[in-house]
Amino acid sequence: MDGSLRALAQKIKSGGISKIAILTGAGISGASGIPDFRSPGGLYDSLRPDLLSCNEEQRAFLRRDPTGVVMFKIFEQTQFPYLEVRRPFILGTCAKKWRYTISHAFFDILSRKNLLARLYDQNIDGLSNQLSIPSEKIVNPHGSLANIACELCGADYPRDEFHERVKTQIRNIYYTGPSAQSGEVDDAGPAESTNIVCKACARPGIKPKTVMFGRPLPAAFFEAVEVDFPDNVDLLIIAGTSLQVHPAASLVMQVDRSCPRLLINRDRVGEDLGMFSRDTDHFLSGTCDDGFLALCAEAGWLDELQALASGMCANSQATLAAFLHARAAGGDSAGNATVFQAAAATAAAAAEGGGGEGGGGGDQVVDDRFMSQALDKSRTYQQGAEIERAKARAVVGEKNSEMSRMIEEAKAEILSEEQNGKR
Ligand SMILES: [Zn+2]
Repeated sequence: MDGSLRALAQKIKSGGISKIAILTGAGISGASGIPDFRSPGGLYDSLRPDLLSCNEEQRAFLRRDPTGVVMFKIFEQTQFPYLEVRRPFILGTCAKKWRYTISHAFFDILSRKNLLARLYDQNIDGLSNQLSIPSEKIVNPHGSLANIACELCGADYPRDEFHERVKTQIRNIYYTGPSAQSGEVDDAGPAESTNIVCKACARPGIKPKTVMFGRPLPAAFFEAVEVDFPDNVDLLIIAGTSLQVHPAASLVMQVDRSCPRLLINRDRVGEDLGMFSRDTDHFLSGTCDDGFLALCAEAGWLDELQALASGMCANSQATLAAFLHARAAGGDSAGNATVFQAAAATAAAAAEGGGGEGGGGGDQVVDDRFMSQALDKSRTYQQGAEIERAKARAVVGEKNSEMSRMIEEAKAEILSEEQNGKR
């Protein structure tokens, strides 16, 4: 974390910044293991239209364009492709199969401290709703799986009844039989899909309130933008989004010229929208969890973060435990671990031949000796994180107490290796 970012964190801590708006994308939910619908190998890529309940014409369309499953013009003909493709996501969300990340926990801490102006969450996964953030502070420009309504007339539909009907009325096109490997028994669902009908208009239009292609964004989004920008935002954090989808992406252009903008992302994005054209723009490179963890450490909020750890997904718990361990084991003053991560990220980018963001800045004022020390530290951190992530993966779905025990064991392993001089 460079000096200007430290200063930003201090300003948040001291109350100099108090109206923080956040724009998020898929990257903030990455650690939770939620399936990705857009990236290569994601759901659209592996979509097999032959399995869907629809006619030949619709099937041919979906073969050409798999995103047709979320297009209104297909949905108004038949609700099955949408519901069949989304079935595991709908039922998994209902069963709380995926849990919030460090990133979501950070937003919750901001909200508790009355520093959150608004969370513009582009994800439909509803993870932001698992914490105590008031619903009026959360805007989902692309809708959310958490609410159910008729796409054709707008009438709300009871959530529990919807989940039950999806389970019993919508075919499971992903069913592969009981999986011997995971020990999980996948539910087969019915042999044929039958319509889930609206109680108000009696048409088959029931689905989660997600925004389909060809439909307008929720009015709540535009209303919130009107209220927030530019006067009621004094910091905009952009996290885990490629800034490709408008109008949400254009929020980066809505802030006042003097308002700092912080991008937390693997890649430096948004230059076409004017990001990094001002010296109040910042970039924290890496995963969202690592970025928000670093911010938390800088702001002195690690205790608050730890208090939310038990409800986090296993990966985020492991990341937090590894970070705390590295800090304790390093014997360094607060905040250094974040410097080590930043150094590691810089080194990794250099190793990949990336270097695209070099030049200008002067952000990376780190001498060679410090860099090599930092890299040693970061290697320890990375190795610790790897072990703990592996342990964490092994206990996904089990109780948190079990999780803590495994993390303790992993820590003991690292310590004993250190004592044996392997590190
Ligand atoms: Zn209806």
